[in-house]
Amino acid sequence: MRKDLRENRLDFFKKRCRENGLKITPQRISIYQELAKCKQHPSTESVFRLTREKFPHISKDTVNRTLLAFSEIGLVDVVEAREGPRRYDPDLTPHHHFHCVSCNEIIDFQGKKYGEIAILEQIRKKYTVFSKRVVLTGLCEKCSKSPKAPK
Ligand SMILES: [Zn+2]
Ligand SMILES: [Zn+2]
Repeated sequence: MRKDLRENRLDFFKKRCRENGLKITPQRISIYQELAKCKQHPSTESVFRLTREKFPHISKDTVNRTLLAFSEIGLVDVVEAREGPRRYDPDLTPHHHFHCVSCNEIIDFQGKKYGEIAILEQIRKKYTVFSKRVVLTGLCEKCSKSPKAPK
């Protein structure tokens, strides 16, 4: 990531925390930075492992609570994981997801056409829609080639 981008992200982080009364601590900064670097929609466990390198005494519970607090103030999205633990997405710009049913990887992709899909009237009548995301499931490149891919 470019340095100026990284700084912008940190500014965004600090601003959100201040606006929402969340204290900015070195641990929280570190958790956010690890999260922001992650392209794989990490689980609490992955963020915990990465953060522990800098803060060996941090607990998984602290990381878990911090991530939930971040999602509450809109710093990170919670991703609809097919199974297993909750996953987080630090990329708040519009994009779509491909879920691999075999390795559980969640891969980002851009698709302007998908973003243009109209919201059906029966939905609009009932709900207030904030965002649109297309989620495709299947096998990723790696798993398509693997012999243990499910039929
Ligand atoms: Zn896969
Ligand atoms: Zn994503």
